[in-house]
Amino acid sequence: MKSASAPDSLPADGIDTVAASLAALRPPWRLRVNHNHATLVSLRGDQHQRTVSVHADLLADPAFIAVLPQWVASNGKVGGSVVQAALRIVQERMHASRRVNERTALPPWEPLGSVLNLDAMYSRLHGDWFAHTPKPAIAWSRAVDPGRQLTHIRFGCYRSGVQARISLHPRLHQPWVARVFVEFVVFHELCHHTQACRPMRGETAHSARFRQWERRYPHFVLASAWERAYLPELLAGTTPVLAGISSRTR
Ligand SMILES: [Zn+2]
Repeated sequence: MKSASAPDSLPADGIDTVAASLAALRPPWRLRVNHNHATLVSLRGDQHQRTVSVHADLLADPAFIAVLPQWVASNGKVGGSVVQAALRIVQERMHASRRVNERTALPPWEPLGSVLNLDAMYSRLHGDWFAHTPKPAIAWSRAVDPGRQLTHIRFGCYRSGVQARISLHPRLHQPWVARVFVEFVVFHELCHHTQACRPMRGETAHSARFRQWERRYPHFVLASAWERAYLPELLAGTTPVLAGISSRTR
């Protein structure tokens, strides 16, 4: 799906002009227009047939088409920076459009809202699923600079011991964040707690047994998809536009 800001594709005669310039090269190149999202531009062929395959969105960039014949003739040595810049723009646009699709494909979900009773949520999860284990303490970990771009984020942390303890990343504590995702992080940490209570020699943290327990969380699929879809805002410390949320899971 194209995003609204995508440029109109190049008129057919524009493509013909590029194709003619490529055909005039010695040796001649054939232009193939692709709609393949994995490889935006590729050069291939032998002494008989040479083809440059270009994604249709790249052909809508005048700077790119201006440099394409020289870039092809020089085997990528001339105009590399122009080609790279054009690729980046198209990739970013595809990425944004994929994200929109991921978000619209999510079933309705409920944001935390302005008041989260963490203790109540936690007691319910522990009581429903982990009552056979002692209940660790839970707390939010120390706040990070709200606007700081993070490169990775550890949503929850479990410490075993007599004073077992779960801590949650403060970026989960925002009104727009999905309730099922916060619950899922707590559930995940309680699975680590269960592991610590019933240790198996040589077991890794996210073992097969662990993954099996984790999948018992009733909204596992939604929570995992939600995490993928909204990770950029969680990393950036920004708030997404949530116009798409119309109904609530409960
Ligand atoms: Zn883990």
